[in-house]
Amino acid sequence: MAFIVAIDGPAGSGKGTITKLVGEKLGLINIDTGAMYRCVTVYMLRNNIKLNEKEKVKKMLKEINIEFKSEKVYLNQEDVTNEIRKTEVNNLVSQVSHLIEIRENITNLSRKVADGKEVIMEGRDIGTNVFPNADVKIYLDASPEERANRRLKQNQEKGIESSYQEILENIKFRDNNDKSSNVAPLKQAEDAIYIDSTNMTIEEVVNKVIDVIKKKG
Ligand code: C5P
Repeated sequence: MAFIVAIDGPAGSGKGTITKLVGEKLGLINIDTGAMYRCVTVYMLRNNIKLNEKEKVKKMLKEINIEFKSEKVYLNQEDVTNEIRKTEVNNLVSQVSHLIEIRENITNLSRKVADGKEVIMEGRDIGTNVFPNADVKIYLDASPEERANRRLKQNQEKGIESSYQEILENIKFRDNNDKSSNVAPLKQAEDAIYIDSTNMTIEEVVNKVIDVIKKKG
């Protein structure tokens, strides 16, 4: 039977880490919708497609194929797992995600990959827009400074070059952009459980999320 856990929250709130660990512990399929918007952004950067080129955007959406296979993300069969985390992508993805055609496309794809399955899906609008009837909704938050620290550490581990200041600025920029969007803005669903992870360890957050899921499921 289908079962959907929606994890929403701002950039760097720990959604990726928590979703992966909870998914593994409970046997739920982990779906990262941010990675889908990032793939579209990579394609636009590579092909020099601008945000206001509506026809090119429409054509692009027909040409794009996004797949997840064993923790890797593929854009038209090419592994782009690392490329989607680069600074140029970080700087553009929020604006890309606000184009209505792109949002509709990725929303449909998100629903399709989850169809009939037991999933834990992370994003910005999963509980509010993609799956308003999700079985469990969690809104994960943390202070911008803590989120920037986490991203910096994550980047260092992956060998991606970045600075704390650059990351903090990007996080604040994306927060504003995501929260003020006309289409599916980042906001907590009324029936979502709010978790502030600023002073929590990963293990504490994972246990809290599992508690919430067990109570509901
Ligand atoms: O989660 P991540 O930081 O990888 O997401 C990248 C961007 O994609 C976000 O800043 C947001 O603009 C967009 N996004 C979205 N809706 C989602 C997931 C991501 O608009 N469900």
